[in-house]
Amino acid sequence: MTAADVGSLPGVAALVSRSRAIGADPTLVVHGGGNTSCKTAGLDHLRRERRLLVIKASGTDLRTIDVNGFAALFLDDLLATRDRDVFEDDDMTVFFAQSRADIGPRRPSIETLLHAFLPAAHVDHVHADAICALGNGPEPERTVREALGPDVAYVPYVRPGFVLARTVSALSGAEAVVLGHHGLVTWADDSDACYARTRAVVARAERYLAARRAVVPPTTATALPGDAAEALLLALRGRLSRAGRRVLAVDPAGRAIADRADAAAVLAAGPATADHLLRTRAFPIIARGAGEVGPAVEASEQRSTELWRRFRDREPNVGLRDTRPAVALVPGLGTVAAGRDAREATVIAEVAARTHAVAAAVLDAFGAAIPLGDRDLFDLEYWPLELAKLPTGAGRDLEGRIVVVTGAASGIGRDIAVALGSVGAHVALADLDAARLDDVAGTVETAGGHALPCRTDVTREQDIDALVAATIRRWGGVDGAVSNAGVAVTGRIESLGLDEWSRSLDVNATSHFLLARRLMPAFRAQGIGGSLVFVASKNAFSPGEGFGAYSVAKAAEVQLARMVALEGGRDGVRSNVVSPDAVFGGSRLWDMGLREERAAAHGVAPEQLQEFYAARSLLKIPVRGVDVADAVAFCLSDRSSRMTGCVLTVDAGVPAAFPR
Ligand code: ZN
Repeated sequence: MTAADVGSLPGVAALVSRSRAIGADPTLVVHGGGNTSCKTAGLDHLRRERRLLVIKASGTDLRTIDVNGFAALFLDDLLATRDRDVFEDDDMTVFFAQSRADIGPRRPSIETLLHAFLPAAHVDHVHADAICALGNGPEPERTVREALGPDVAYVPYVRPGFVLARTVSALSGAEAVVLGHHGLVTWADDSDACYARTRAVVARAERYLAARRAVVPPTTATALPGDAAEALLLALRGRLSRAGRRVLAVDPAGRAIADRADAAAVLAAGPATADHLLRTRAFPIIARGAGEVGPAVEASEQRSTELWRRFRDREPNVGLRDTRPAVALVPGLGTVAAGRDAREATVIAEVAARTHAVAAAVLDAFGAAIPLGDRDLFDLEYWPLELAKLPTGAGRDLEGRIVVVTGAASGIGRDIAVALGSVGAHVALADLDAARLDDVAGTVETAGGHALPCRTDVTREQDIDALVAATIRRWGGVDGAVSNAGVAVTGRIESLGLDEWSRSLDVNATSHFLLARRLMPAFRAQGIGGSLVFVASKNAFSPGEGFGAYSVAKAAEVQLARMVALEGGRDGVRSNVVSPDAVFGGSRLWDMGLREERAAAHGVAPEQLQEFYAARSLLKIPVRGVDVADAVAFCLSDRSSRMTGCVLTVDAGVPAAFPR
């Protein structure tokens, strides 16, 4: 049975549209949470009519789900397990694989038996904020009865699996079941009726909470000033990135929680639902300033390690997990989440927002929250079935790295930005040409990277400051820069105007200084080194007649790179030069007469210039932007970790420009 076959079974189209309706509401489920099912019938591979359960597959998202996100299993096989005494997770996973009616690649949900054992044709399971709030306060059973009426049953927290499935199936006479510290299960024989019941029960919970909500005094916290926020983000990212780079995501809406006087109590309430823990981790932190980051992270890591030491015998095959906290509350700034890349960090921030909203609702309605016990926290954090959902394996070369590229709208800069994106980098794109930058940003994202376009005049101090500030604000820090923006200024010394001379020095020398000067303290504050790559030119080593303003400025750039290497070494900051020659493809350097001017200087026709340059090189081949981009990516990556103060020529071999 293919996904298309499953899609054509009675009831499945209604299941898909109901699932999407649930997934569209983040107060019901977030990012892969919750699951839905329907019971139907169809022909198996021997054309026998069989009863089937169609259920959401593990790791798919209800918001965007289609029929490929579901798995079909033989219902009678599943029901045959009901009278067992025990059914361990591992055995259950194998059993599900052998009970498949379809050939889909994804595993059925961990909660498959819970759906199978309930007799109704349609079943919804959500982690609704309001339901979690009822189940996380004191006396949850009494609260659930009071809020939802006597027909809704309550089951105290137990990790999903066979036991929970059997417990819930014994309550199939109820209107719905609230699972403590977890969520809600509703059912009906008709898809629309099932959805309506989910909505109705959640709405009742919301009304109850609203009626009980204490008056929360308005917060008096003020916004964290920009420089203090930057210092905090750099300290946090640096501290979290020691054991592998982390990218941060700032959610300003998190101030609603972070600014509360009882923010610590919100965090102490723990995850709203067991489902959130995998993302938010057990012990988020609070930090008011850069100085608090280190001790807060340390304390969180200690608690995580302690938890593992106490209970590790329960999962002897799973070693100590990454203990770094994934979420920080920063008063005056919001929620800050840390992930392997920007996408993961954003998801964690969204999940944290839900968990904190529930904790705040619990505190406002009941005055106190009852968190999951340490043992349950351990069982969730070290649950092999959940850990299997996490990505594994080595990342791409610049995964989690944050790099500024100037002159990124065209030519070499564009090629560099796209190449860095294709190996996972987060790239801040700087250029004067905002329209072209947006286009490059799209290409970087398509290549698998993350892009932040910033219109920048690299000769203006305030623009460089804003560029670096925006980068740190977006991703939490910065690992390197490719100082690439340049402009061609031609003319013999005796006929060169002072304004032309100054313009070349501003763009081709001073702009590199401004960027390096802004980045050096940021690298030091992060404490995880940095890498600067200066895109120079063959002219820095072998100047061309009539090209003085350019050649002198490019020589200054090379000397600047060496100064940065000298002064940055103690902070682990590397500085290298990539020196190309005669790169044409898409470069705007050759516009505005340069091509004609250089062609005349060499005594060839303008259209022969590229050929002329190739012919004068040792390898007799043209140099492309991607060749320069490869060298730059190498200089930014850890593969060049022992290289600083170095010049890499990418010029197909020009003996006169051998660096010395
Ligand atoms: Zn669940």
